Amino acid sequence: MQIIPFKNKIWLSSPTMHGEEQKWVRDAFEKNWITTAGENINEVEKIVAERIGVKYAVALSCGTASLHLATKLAGEKLYGQAKPDKGTLQGHKVFCSDMTFDATINPVAYEDGEAVFIDTEPDTWNMCPKALEKAFEIYPEVKLVVVAHLYGIPGKIDEIREICNRHGALIVEDAAESFGATYKGKETGSFGDFGAISFNGNKIITGSSGGMFLTDSKEDADKVRKWSTQSREAAPWYQHEEIGYNYRMSNIIAGIVRGQMNYLDEHIAQKKAIYERYKAGFQGLPVTMNPFDEENSKPNYWLSCMLINQEAMCRQVRSENEAVYISEKGKSCPTEILETLAKYNAEGRPIWKPMHMQPIYRMNPFITANGNGRGQSNAYINLGKTNDVGADIFARGLCLPSDNKMTPDEQDIIIEIIKSCFE
Ligand SMILES: *Cc1c(COP(=O)(O)O)cnc(C)c1O
Repeated sequence: MQIIPFKNKIWLSSPTMHGEEQKWVRDAFEKNWITTAGENINEVEKIVAERIGVKYAVALSCGTASLHLATKLAGEKLYGQAKPDKGTLQGHKVFCSDMTFDATINPVAYEDGEAVFIDTEPDTWNMCPKALEKAFEIYPEVKLVVVAHLYGIPGKIDEIREICNRHGALIVEDAAESFGATYKGKETGSFGDFGAISFNGNKIITGSSGGMFLTDSKEDADKVRKWSTQSREAAPWYQHEEIGYNYRMSNIIAGIVRGQMNYLDEHIAQKKAIYERYKAGFQGLPVTMNPFDEENSKPNYWLSCMLINQEAMCRQVRSENEAVYISEKGKSCPTEILETLAKYNAEGRPIWKPMHMQPIYRMNPFITANGNGRGQSNAYINLGKTNDVGADIFARGLCLPSDNKMTPDEQDIIIEIIKSCFE
């Protein structure tokens, strides 16, 4: 079959707008409530809290800001108020998801904590409970866990919750990618002591940007709202007893989110159809899709991903900034597939490069299910002889074009392109 490049680029995941968003943006203009207060903000805080099943949602400028204030609040609860020039984690260790976007865990550094990275499990590509248990054996003093649900697939969050309860640790739950996904009937974002979601442009719904902090505690919601608006005290002038931030969501952004909320379930259904079409289309190829707990979880299928069987990997080597591969009959690798997709004007992406492999976090501890995960060479990982699950998924996995607006015909062409890589 002769495949010609797509005329219009097929995106990984681009904003899908419906027009209704503009009504609420216009409403904000007409009432001149265009800044960080107004009806759209109040309304989206209400509907998001209802959807997720938490008592309070605080609308902020982005998911990262939500994670920052969640992490700061956790630190303050655990270790007390810090001096103005110090973070609340005050040098303490924090257990963190390893294979994730760095926005999940950077707030630990903002707050002067030390991230200890917990390896990934193969069943859902999220934090491994066994590795977490191992980490508590090695560092029993740790009191905070930052955990993300990757690509819209819920992690083993009740096992993680049970382990944290046993060790008296709090949880910051990063549901930035998994808004609308449920585990045992409960929405992600509602399992942690503090939760966060994101309305970044490529997420399941978008406000162009934006995020929310989630909690069941009124006191915590009030505190985060106060911090997010420069920590002003009740006084006739600008009075400050705490460090503040300019993190509040604007009423314009909230208008876009308000319009998008009605389409959350539609977007999830579209993403699910994309995932299932890939799964069916890849029958017979030596690959699997990003897996989930089919009994207990309903993903939002934000990104469809694939993993190439070890025996079907052609040789691929990655330095810090480049990748090369040697094409082989019957085999392929993420680099070959991503380059081929790009050639046809379609966008894929490597799996999140694990944090323990990132130059900025290279000195931080990393715990696998077997204990200390440091000291495994790259060559070993390339041979598939590693118990570093995150590095292995990074080596063999990739994110596929998962845009809501991709048609079934276009997706069939993507599937053909991927098949051609294995010929
Ligand atoms: C997108 C994302 C964030 C950050 O959200 P922003 O709104 O872009 O700041 C945090 N964590 C994960 C896992 C994400 O994918």
